[in-house]
Amino acid sequence: MDTQTPPATPRSAGAAARDILRRLHEVMASRARAQAKLNKVVRIIAKSLSSEVCSIYLLRDGVLELYATKGLAQEAVHVTRLAVGEGLVGQIAANREPLNLDEAAEHPDFAYKPETGEDLFHSFAGVPIIRQESAVGVLAVQHVEPRQYQDIEIEALQTVAMVLAELISAAGLIDASTMTAVRSHQGPLRLEGLKLVKGVGQGRAVFHQPRVVIEHTVSDDIEGEKQRIVKAFKTMREQIDRMMGKAEFAAPGDHDDILETYKMFAYDEGWSRRITEAIESGLTAEAGIERVAQKTRARLRKADDPFFAERLHDLDDLSNRLLRIVSGQVGTAAQMGIGRDTILLARNLGPAELLEYDRRFLKGVVLEEGSLTAHVIIIARAMGIPVLGQVKDIRAQIAEGDPLLLDVTRGVVFVRPPETVVEQFEEQVALRDRRQAEYAKLRDKPAVTLDGTPIQLFMNAGLRADIPSLEASGADGIGLFRTEFQFLVSATLPRRERQTSLYQDVLEAAGDKPVTFRTVDIGGDKTVPYVDSHAREENPAMGYRALRLALGRKGLMKVQARALLEASAGRTLRIMFPMVSEPWEFAEAKSIVLEQLAAQMARGKELPTELKFGAMLEVPALAEMLDVFLPQIDFLSIGTNDLVQFLFAADRSNPALAERFDWLSPAVLRFMKRVVDAADDAAKPVTVCGEMGGRPVAAMALLALGYRRLSITPAGIGPVKAMVRSLDLEALSKAMDGWLRTGMPIRPKLRQWAERYSVKLG
Ligand code: PEP
Ligand code: MG
Repeated sequence: MDTQTPPATPRSAGAAARDILRRLHEVMASRARAQAKLNKVVRIIAKSLSSEVCSIYLLRDGVLELYATKGLAQEAVHVTRLAVGEGLVGQIAANREPLNLDEAAEHPDFAYKPETGEDLFHSFAGVPIIRQESAVGVLAVQHVEPRQYQDIEIEALQTVAMVLAELISAAGLIDASTMTAVRSHQGPLRLEGLKLVKGVGQGRAVFHQPRVVIEHTVSDDIEGEKQRIVKAFKTMREQIDRMMGKAEFAAPGDHDDILETYKMFAYDEGWSRRITEAIESGLTAEAGIERVAQKTRARLRKADDPFFAERLHDLDDLSNRLLRIVSGQVGTAAQMGIGRDTILLARNLGPAELLEYDRRFLKGVVLEEGSLTAHVIIIARAMGIPVLGQVKDIRAQIAEGDPLLLDVTRGVVFVRPPETVVEQFEEQVALRDRRQAEYAKLRDKPAVTLDGTPIQLFMNAGLRADIPSLEASGADGIGLFRTEFQFLVSATLPRRERQTSLYQDVLEAAGDKPVTFRTVDIGGDKTVPYVDSHAREENPAMGYRALRLALGRKGLMKVQARALLEASAGRTLRIMFPMVSEPWEFAEAKSIVLEQLAAQMARGKELPTELKFGAMLEVPALAEMLDVFLPQIDFLSIGTNDLVQFLFAADRSNPALAERFDWLSPAVLRFMKRVVDAADDAAKPVTVCGEMGGRPVAAMALLALGYRRLSITPAGIGPVKAMVRSLDLEALSKAMDGWLRTGMPIRPKLRQWAERYSVKLG
C-alpha cells in the first residue's frame, strides 16, 4: 500500500467511528438548517477518517444529486447529478453495496464529472445510505493517493451512513416524493421469478414485515442500551421456547429441527456480543442490531454454500424479531392478522414465520430471495402455498394493498393487473380447477391401461409433511423415501430416536402400503456441516456422496440401519442404497444392515418380519453388471435424475444445460430398455423413481419400454393415472420398438401418438 496518508489502524478506525457518531449527534441536535448540517457532517467525517474528500449524494426526483462535499469543487454541489446505476455512485445506490477502489478511474463504471475536479483523487470508497430497504443516497470518501480502504473503515462508513439516514430523514430531505420515485412503477407490472412452489393465487399485497423504522441511531447512554439488548434477548429466547412447545409444533415435525436452529442462534453468545460491540461504538440498541444484520446480509449475498446461506437466513429472521422486540414496534403481518386472500411479500421468510400465518387466508408468497432447498420452501410445499422466489426489488415495485395475480406455474406475478389479464387468469384457474377435480375423481380408480395392463404408481417423499399426500393422492405406496431430507433440515445430526420416530410415523401412515426407504444420499451438493465429507469438490455430483460416503462413515450407516430396523419391527422393511456403482458396494452396505439385525436380535428386540434389499441404478457402470448383480438384490430402482446427468455428462443443476439434453432421447430410452429387459429376465421388480416418471409424456415412454412401476411426485399421480387409463399400451410398445431402431427424436413421436389416439397428457 503506497500512501502518504497513513491507513487507519483497526483501533483508530473504531475510535474514529465513535468520535464521528458523537459529533454527528451534536449536529443532529443543533438547530441549523438541513444544508448547513450536511456541510458540517462532510467536514466531520473527512476529518475523522483523514479523508481528503467526503461527499453526500441524495436521491431527488429519481436522480442522485451531490448535496454536500468537503474536498470536491463547491460549484458542483446541486449541479452534479447521476442516474441510479450511472458511475460509481450510481452503482452503489443500484446494488446497495459498498465499493472500495484504489484506482477509481480504472473501474468500468467510472463516470468522469469534470465540474467536481475529482480527477485529482485516485482512491474511492462509498457506501449506500439506506432507508426502509431502499438506497436514498450515497456517502463517499476519496484520496489523492491510491489506497485500499480497510474493512474496518468501510464498516465505519456504513455505521455513519445509518446515522445519516436518520439525519436526512429528520431534516425532511427524504420526502414522500423521494420514496415514490424510488418505487417508480405505479402502473401494471409483470415480474418474473423462480418457481419455488408451483400453483396460482390471487389476492392483495401484504408485507410480512411492516419495516421497523429506526428512529434513533445514536445514544450516549451505552449502559442503558446494553440493558435493553439483554432484556430483548431474554424475551426472544422465551418466545422461541414457547414456540417449541406450541400445539402446532408440539407433535414432532420437520419444523422441530428448524426451531432447534433458531434456538441455537438465540443463545449464541457471539451474536449478542457483536451487537453489544456496535452499541459500544455509540449506536442505539436498534441501530446495533441493524448494523450486525447488515453484515449478515452482506455475507449472505456472497455465500455460495446453500446450507450456510440457509443458516444465515435463519439468523436474519431472528434479527428482525429482536428488532421488533427492542423497538416495541408492531409485529409481523401474521401477528396483526391478515385479511382474506392475502399474497405475502417478504425479502425472505423463516419457516417458523410462515407457520404463524392463517393458512386459510394465505394465497401465495413472493420472495426477493429463496431457493428450492430452503426450509421455508419445504414447509410451504407441504402447506400447499405457491411461492415465487428471486423477484427483484419487491419494495420498490409493489405497494401494500396492491392487487396481485400469482402464477408460479409460469413463474410470474402480475402487479396491479389490467382487467383483461385478470379475466385470462381467472379462466386459467377455472380450467386448472376442473382438471384437478377430474384427477381427484381418479383417486380410487385403478391405474390400468385401456388394454388391461395394471401399472403401479408410488409416490416420492422425504419429510413428515409429505405423509398426508399418500392418502390424498391415492398412491400405491412410497417408492422412494429420501431419508436425507431429515438431515438437511436439521442443524445437528438427527439422533437415532428422531430417525426411528420419523420412520415409524411414515410406516404407520402407510398401513399396508409398501414404503421403500433410501439410505442417506448426502455429500456432493447436499452437504451438512456435521457430517464431514471431503474438502470442496470440483464435481460434487460425481464425488464423495451417497453410498460412497456412507461406506466411509460406517457409524452413520449403522445408526440409520438400527433406526430403520427398530421402526419396522413386526413388518416388512424395504431398504435401498443410493448410487451403487459396483456390486461389492451393495454387498458391503447390506452386510452392515445384517450386522445390525443380528445385534437387535441379540438385544432381544422385535425384528422386521421381512427384509428386502434394493439398489438404485444411477451410475451407468452398474448397468453393465446386471447379469451378475440382479441375482444378488430383491429389487432395482432407477434414479433417472442422476442417471441422465451421468449418461450425458451434463450437470442436472446447471440451468444452462436444463433444456440441452432430453431424457426422451433415443440414447436414454435405449439404455432404459436394456435395463428393464434384464430385470424382467431375472424376474426382479424394477421401478423408475426420477422426476421423469412424473411427466405424462415421459411416463408414456417408460411404459412403452416395459416399465410397470413408477415412483413420482404426489402431484404427478393424477395426471399420470389419467394418461395410463387412456393408453393402448401394446400398440404403443410396438411403435416404440420401431422408433428406437430409427434413432429419431422420440418426444415429437409420442406427442403425435397421443394426439392421434386421444391419450390424455393433461
Ligand atoms: C434420482 O437421481 O433420480 C433420484 C431419484 O434421486 P435424487 O433425485 O434424490 O438424487
Ligand atoms: Mg439420485
